[in-house]
Amino acid sequence: MKIIERSDFSLLFAVLKSKGFIIIGPTSRDGAIIYDDIQSVEDLPAGWSDEQDCGKYRLRRRNDEALFGYAVGPHSWKKYLHVAEQRLWSASKNGSDLEMHPDQIVPPKLAFLGVRSCELHAIAIQDKVLLQGPYEDDFYSVRRKNIFIIAVNCTQAGGTCFCASMKTGPRVSEGFDLALTEVLEKDRHYFVVEAGTENGKEVLAAISKTEATEKEKQEASEAIDKALQQMRRTLDTEGLKELLYRNYDNPRWDHVAKRCLSCANCTIVCPTCFCTTIEDVTDLSGNHAERRQKWDSCFHMQFSYIHGGSVRASAKSRYRQWMTHKLATWQDQFGSSGCVGCGRCITWCPVGIDITEEAGAIRQSDKKGVMK
Ligand code: SF4
Ligand code: SF4
Repeated sequence: MKIIERSDFSLLFAVLKSKGFIIIGPTSRDGAIIYDDIQSVEDLPAGWSDEQDCGKYRLRRRNDEALFGYAVGPHSWKKYLHVAEQRLWSASKNGSDLEMHPDQIVPPKLAFLGVRSCELHAIAIQDKVLLQGPYEDDFYSVRRKNIFIIAVNCTQAGGTCFCASMKTGPRVSEGFDLALTEVLEKDRHYFVVEAGTENGKEVLAAISKTEATEKEKQEASEAIDKALQQMRRTLDTEGLKELLYRNYDNPRWDHVAKRCLSCANCTIVCPTCFCTTIEDVTDLSGNHAERRQKWDSCFHMQFSYIHGGSVRASAKSRYRQWMTHKLATWQDQFGSSGCVGCGRCITWCPVGIDITEEAGAIRQSDKKGVMK
């Protein structure tokens, strides 16, 4: 492990740029921390933190100049890998012939700066779904190849995250090129940095020659432990799949359905949700047509539309499907939970529905049912 002093942090930008990377990282905009192109360390939200709770997100000033002193915001990295809209092909008429033009992309080399542990797990889940299943997503595959990942260990828990319950954080374990831990002391601000790949080693060697001491490594580890201790939300995963499978008729689904607006926010902000729809567009002349793939949500009525109507016509059936898929059927389908505990669906639900509370309520009523 090596040390990068805060005063040298801009070297990371210089080295990545010299290798042709566009740097994407957290920045403060419109009252939230979002992911966007960043040019320099000045674009990072220094000295900002966030307050998150059910349906609540606020930025607030910290009493220090931490660069990564906040939890995840509304954006996730899927907006760069599994993009919100992608044209798949276009077609044009040439006389009586129809010419098809499949779209091909040459994505830029991107360096993701500030990827949290839960987000690395979310990327791994999308890799499994979109690359390792029977149908590989070619666009995702091309975008995914050139990504350089600079992870950041969380040293501050968000108000809605529960990664510890899902065993996805706050400590970064794999899937990164570099992993940073930010340490703030009274008179010093530095990063303990670990390389996870040969590319990571090469970048790190160009920035720092200073090996981390045992004391510095200890300080970094304690900073991550602090985030773990701050985490208030939990989700009991013991037998969760079986619990949900035997509770399709639990009255709690009616209770949550009375509040759920079917707005789809929870699926759009979720870093693992991958559902899409297809839209065909023609121009007025009838000579040109395009097929586009767009993010969709299982909260939309038309998502489960088949001849004669929607399979999931009620808010109750849609919420039950979503939560049961995330926490139960996903395990049968992809071998893991579909939830990494990032807390976004809780923060960005306009009526403050909390997946941990709903799962907890079902567990409580299941226990009572068993005791009867
Ligand atoms: S279900 Fe909610 S907490 Fe879980 S990964 Fe998706 S947005 Fe995050
Ligand atoms: S649970 Fe909340 S965010 Fe999700 S669809 Fe219902 S109201 Fe919208």
